[in-house]
Amino acid sequence: MFKPQAIYYEKDIENYPLGKELLEKYKYIPKVEIESHNSIKEMQQQDNKEFINMKKNLIIGVRKTHKFVENHKVSDYLVPYTSSGCIAACMYCYLVCNYNKCAYLRLFVNREKMLDKIIKTAEKSERNLTFEIGSNSDLILENTITGNLIWTIENFKNTKNGMLTFPTKFDMVDDILPLDHKGKVIVRMSVNPEEIINRVEFGTSRLKRKNRSNK
Ligand code: SF4
Repeated sequence: MFKPQAIYYEKDIENYPLGKELLEKYKYIPKVEIESHNSIKEMQQQDNKEFINMKKNLIIGVRKTHKFVENHKVSDYLVPYTSSGCIAACMYCYLVCNYNKCAYLRLFVNREKMLDKIIKTAEKSERNLTFEIGSNSDLILENTITGNLIWTIENFKNTKNGMLTFPTKFDMVDDILPLDHKGKVIVRMSVNPEEIINRVEFGTSRLKRKNRSNK
């Protein structure tokens, strides 16, 4: 179970049910109020060598950008969803190129607005669109903190058109396996040989974990 060193949070999260839930869950963890999850001076001023230490923190805010980006690989759209960044530290992670040392895990509590936009876009479409919701983070990991995947699948499964997809390098899938998603969710698992996992995929699930209760 991930126990953050500190919580950096936007005051506005108190106005969202998930925000309240997370503040209660982490009530004994030291907190720092921030203006914006996008610009945390204290983090920006850290040396690059602090990269791993910074990932021990959890940042919680409200997502302001909801623009879908067209994509022609595994989906029709890349969708900004409930998290960005990660607590793991794969050496090739593309989030480091995007966020540099600030590739720590950020959670966004306004999930209703994000899912509502996906559902409306799907229902307006004449064809079955696929939405990539995990291009900026790892939702299996995030789900162990927020339960957002369970919430998402429950609230999306009856949408007329549309599929959701996301990739993962984690094995904490027990919570979502029993869910009836009505064939509308595609989970893409990334599994490398043990040597690669051990050498470059730091902090992700191991190939031969005996006990999967990583919560
Ligand atoms: S698990 Fe995915 S998001 Fe996390 S560090 Fe590795 S590549 Fe990046």
